[in-house]
Amino acid sequence: MSAADCIFCKIVSREIPSLRVFEDAHSLAFLDIGPLSSGHTLLIPKQHHTDILDIPQDVFSSLTSNLPQLARTLMKVTGATGMNVLQNTGKSAGQAVFHLHIHLIPRTEGDRLGYRWNTGNYGEGEAQSLQSEIIQQLDAG
Ligand code: AMP
Ligand code: ZN
Repeated sequence: MSAADCIFCKIVSREIPSLRVFEDAHSLAFLDIGPLSSGHTLLIPKQHHTDILDIPQDVFSSLTSNLPQLARTLMKVTGATGMNVLQNTGKSAGQAVFHLHIHLIPRTEGDRLGYRWNTGNYGEGEAQSLQSEIIQQLDAG
């Protein structure tokens, strides 16, 4: 998807409306139109970047520098006692809008969302071999 067809670029340019809660020169946060909980907010870079694989490190750093204060404020305003911070990269991970966004989802004990994560486990030696491969790749740059 090009930036021209991107719904979040249109939110940045105000071509389509949104309920903005925070913005600075490079970042914007607005209420999610289909909230998972009250105060569910999306934090996005104003520049179009598809996902976590595509965003330059400095743009991501500047974006996430706003995250703690935004999270604290959302919790204070909603009375939430927890927060899920979620970023979906790729269709297989549930990404539906291909302009990078970080979900901030306020949570309270016993809320309707619950928490289910189907954990697995590694076979003999599998985690260790993954560990070395990841370290090697990171070292190779
Ligand atoms: P994801 O599945 O991570 O790509 O999430 C996309 C999110 O964007 C969903 O939570 C949608 O509810 C939200 N969304 C889509 N269109 C709009 C919009 N016009 N204004 C606010 N949130 C939106
Ligand atoms: Zn965009």
